[in-house]
Amino acid sequence: MIGTQLIDDYARNISDEKQQSVISGSAAGTNKRYQVLHKDYPDPDALRKLAASIKDHTLHHLGDYLAKAEQALVSRGVNVHFASTDEDARQTILSILQGHGVTQLTKSKSMAAEEIHLNPFLIENGVECLESDLGEFIIQLDGDEPSHIVKPIIHKNRREIAETFLREGIAADYNDDPETITRRARVYLRKKYMQAQAGITGANFVCADTGRLALITNEGNSRFGMAPVGVHIALVGIEKIIPQEKDLAVFLNLLSRSATGQQLTVYTEFINGRKSANQPDGPEHMHVVFMDNGRTDVLASNCKEILRCIRCGACQNVCPVYRQASGHAYRSTYGGPVGAVLSPILFGSRFPELADLPKASSLCGACNEVCPVDIPIPDLLLRLRDKAHREHIHSPAAIPMSPFAVLATSPSLWRTAMTMSKAMNHLPIQVAPIKPLQDWLGQRTLPDSHGGDFRKWMKNRKPVHKS
Ligand code: SF4
Repeated sequence: MIGTQLIDDYARNISDEKQQSVISGSAAGTNKRYQVLHKDYPDPDALRKLAASIKDHTLHHLGDYLAKAEQALVSRGVNVHFASTDEDARQTILSILQGHGVTQLTKSKSMAAEEIHLNPFLIENGVECLESDLGEFIIQLDGDEPSHIVKPIIHKNRREIAETFLREGIAADYNDDPETITRRARVYLRKKYMQAQAGITGANFVCADTGRLALITNEGNSRFGMAPVGVHIALVGIEKIIPQEKDLAVFLNLLSRSATGQQLTVYTEFINGRKSANQPDGPEHMHVVFMDNGRTDVLASNCKEILRCIRCGACQNVCPVYRQASGHAYRSTYGGPVGAVLSPILFGSRFPELADLPKASSLCGACNEVCPVDIPIPDLLLRLRDKAHREHIHSPAAIPMSPFAVLATSPSLWRTAMTMSKAMNHLPIQVAPIKPLQDWLGQRTLPDSHGGDFRKWMKNRKPVHKS
């Protein structure tokens, strides 16, 4: 779990600068997505419904498709491993690296690797592990955590990045020009690619029929990470399987548009297996580690639709709570609406305190509207709220609702409370009778109460006579 502050507390203390970075970064993604999706598809909804049905079908037959993918990968000379837990996944990867004598590697962006905190684990065990995605590289330099699925440094501005580069000796002088920052990172990383003995990647999709991995990036870093090394390890969540290569046409078109507003990312790699005899470069050994780490629990839950997720981040970009609070407020690798559903189920047995995340939503439905695989996120949030209620898991920040229930079920008490509520317009929040109510009011600007006006209006209104 990342941090312990409750989401309300985190949002209250976030700096203006950080909040502004998150708001502008997420708004840009939303606008571009809308334009490029609607320009190319007259009915994007039909496409996402198709994507949802392919994902549902795959999840329904996940065991079969995993077995098929394993068979196809093995036939191409790839070593396949299955990891039930995060610890299994970490140990599997470490033993592969040790088996090949690897002490230095580069890693491209992978949410699965973030989820199991792979990087610090490998470093602790004597393997130099360098993030090669620019955003993740900056996160690593700062000892920070990503706060967005696609844009890990959405919460940082270029001044902060330039200061980091200066502090860490990546740059000799301060320069916050984005192109200069990128060029400096590139010079630094190029050397590291050539020194590395292994490359770790994730995979956006694995095709069960051929075992082919599809990987998308905008920086080409995963390609660089694989070309000069002897060993490639792909860490993949088991839900990344799709039945056939031809399904990639649906998912690649949706993923890039939803994630970054591009028709296709700059680099789309299709990885067939280890290097063939007539290829001059590429890894001689390839390992795919399929990781469960709670995914089968999600599959068995009444929120299994969340496993359709293709990690585009569109729901984060559009969510008013995410924009105000930032990804770090969710205290988990997955922030925003997707995280509010996924994190409590994936990690809830180890971190029951994440059960409050489904409440971090106004249920406005924007997340469902933009989701390229049509996940009914608001419905799933309600199901999780209901579960927490039935299991008596209460968020520490929640206001007790029993006094409200007493008021709302007694007409005379309700009338009195409505009349008195006008007085609250002129009182400071400190006079609220309980601390949680003070905190709740402290973060909201409520409209003035007109308590009882509607009842008066109803009572005095003139009947309308139809002629
Ligand atoms: S839940 Fe949907 S919108 Fe959110 S990251 Fe996943 S695929 Fe994208």
